[in-house]
Amino acid sequence: MEIVYVDMDNVLVDFPWGINQLSEELKQEYEGDFDEIPNFFRDLPPVDGAIEAYHRLSEQYDTYILSTAPWHNPTAWIDKVLWVQEHLPESAYKRLILSHHKNLNKGDYLIDDREANGVSEFGGEHIHFGEEPFPNWKTVLDYLLE
Ligand SMILES: [Mg+2]
Repeated sequence: MEIVYVDMDNVLVDFPWGINQLSEELKQEYEGDFDEIPNFFRDLPPVDGAIEAYHRLSEQYDTYILSTAPWHNPTAWIDKVLWVQEHLPESAYKRLILSHHKNLNKGDYLIDDREANGVSEFGGEHIHFGEEPFPNWKTVLDYLLE
């Protein structure tokens, strides 16, 4: 079975939604470093279609979540496992990998909205989520599912 890795922020998790919810005080205090706000990651909603997409991918691929948690925000490391336990309790059970070196994971596909944290050196195919030809989950599933 081929291996697929799925990023969290802006792929499974609606990060911009959280920024829109921030108070003006927090926005100013953490200007440019929103990912360092304590507990910021805990209550973010899923991206449209992301949960169903992960389930469907899991039926045809050995599927894992491969995310990077901010080094200077320890709560993010906790928040991310809690998020996965809440939204994908079964299909992502013990399938969360937090890493700043995504290229060290071997596999066939990596669905990610960025090239940082090793994505550009990933050994398989980088599906660049959010950019053409993969602007959303529908286009990704059309490509990956039989
Ligand atoms: Mg991301």
